[in-house]
Amino acid sequence: MTAPIRRVLPPSASRLELRDIGAGLASWLARADSRGALARAVRRRFGVRHVFPVSSGRAALWAGLMALRQLSPDRNEVLLPAFTAFSVPAAVVRAGLTVRLYDLDPWTLTPDMAGLERAMSGRTLCVVLCHLFGYPLDVRPVRELADRHGAAVIDDAAQAMGASLDGRWVGTQGDFGLFSLGRGKNMTAVGGGLLVTDRDDLAAALAALPETRRVSRWSAPKSLVQAMALLIAVHPRVYRLPASLPWLHVGASIFDPDFPVTGLDGFRAGLAVRVLDRLEHVTAGRRAVAGRLLAALADAPGIRAVRSVSEPVYLRLPLLPDADWPDGRAPVCPALGVVRSYPLPVHLIAAVAPHLDASRSYPGAEFLARNLITAPTHAFVRAGDVAAMAHLFQGRGAT
Ligand SMILES: *Cc1c(COP(=O)(O)O)cnc(C)c1O
Repeated sequence: MTAPIRRVLPPSASRLELRDIGAGLASWLARADSRGALARAVRRRFGVRHVFPVSSGRAALWAGLMALRQLSPDRNEVLLPAFTAFSVPAAVVRAGLTVRLYDLDPWTLTPDMAGLERAMSGRTLCVVLCHLFGYPLDVRPVRELADRHGAAVIDDAAQAMGASLDGRWVGTQGDFGLFSLGRGKNMTAVGGGLLVTDRDDLAAALAALPETRRVSRWSAPKSLVQAMALLIAVHPRVYRLPASLPWLHVGASIFDPDFPVTGLDGFRAGLAVRVLDRLEHVTAGRRAVAGRLLAALADAPGIRAVRSVSEPVYLRLPLLPDADWPDGRAPVCPALGVVRSYPLPVHLIAAVAPHLDASRSYPGAEFLARNLITAPTHAFVRAGDVAAMAHLFQGRGAT
C-alpha cells in the first residue's frame, strides 16, 4: 500500500481552468483588443466610467497616486490603515509620497475615525481604505471627512471584488478604486490590476502615464507559462511542493517598492474577461465555506470571526482571540491553510518606520499583527477540512 499524498491547502487560492488559459491564449494569438474588451466588461459590471487594466493591483494604486498628485501638487501625504498588505505602503513609497497611518478597530477592521481625523491636514493627498479579506467598509463617513479637508478617497478593493454595501459595489466609491487579479485574490489572471474611476480629469492624467500602457513583447508568453504553473501549483496535492521551497517566498509578506508597472498583456486580459464571468459563482462558494466555518466556530472558546457591517465576500475568514493568544501560540495549521496574517503593522516595517512619527502607536493594528489568523474559504476546501479546522479551533487539534 502506498502512503496517501498529504494535502496542503493554500491559505488563499483562485482556481484557474484549462479553458481560461485557452481563452487567454486565443485572444493573444488573435491579437484581439482584449484589454479593451476587459475594460468594457468591467465598466458594465461595476457601472464605472473609466477602467485601466495594468500589471498588478499595486501598479494600479501607484498610477492612481501619480495622477492624483499631478492634480494636487501641493499635497504629498497618503493616509493608510496601519494594518494592511505590504503592497499598499510599497506603492506609496514608489510614488515618492509620504506614508501617514490611522488605526483600525480589530474586531471589525473599520477605521478609527478619531485617529483618522487627527492624521488629516492640508498636506493630505488622500485616504486609502482597504476592504481586507473581502469585508466591505462603509466609505461614506470617510468621504465626508476627506471632503472637509479637500483630500481624495481611494477605494482599495484588491481583496473584495464583488462585495457590496447598501447596493453599491466596493471599489467604486472613491475618487478612484482598484481590484487585484493577483494569484491569491478573488479572481486571478495570474497577476493584474484594474484601476476604476468616474473622474474624467483623473482618467486623462492616467491616460497620459506611459507606464500604464507599455507592454513588453515577452509579457504574454511569460504569463502563459505562469498560468500553466499556477493551474497545477494551487492544487492541494501539489501545493506542499512550492510551499516548501524557501526561495519562492510563497505566502510571505515582503515590502518591495521596486515592483514593475506596465499595462496588462493580451494573454492576461483575455483570461481575465473569462474568469470575471464566474465571479458570482466563486463568491457564492466562498460564502458557503465561510458559513460552515462560522457555524463550527460558534461553540469554540476564546476565538471569533471578525464582524462585518454587510455580507463579506470572504477572500479568507479572519479570526481573532478574545485577548492575546495564551503564550503567543495561535492555533495555526499550515497544512489546513490556517495561517497568521500580515506579521507586522505598517509602522514596524523596517523600510517604512524611519519616515513615520515614532511617538504614535496603533494598538488595533498591533493587536491584529500579533493575533489575526485566517482560514481558507476557496474551492479546494472540503467538508473534511472544515471539520479538521473546527477541531483545531476547539483546541483539540495539533498546532
Ligand atoms: C494584494 C493587495 C494589493 C496589491 O495587489 P497586487 O495585485 O498583489 O499588486 C493592494 N491592496 C491590498 C489591500 C491588497 O491585498
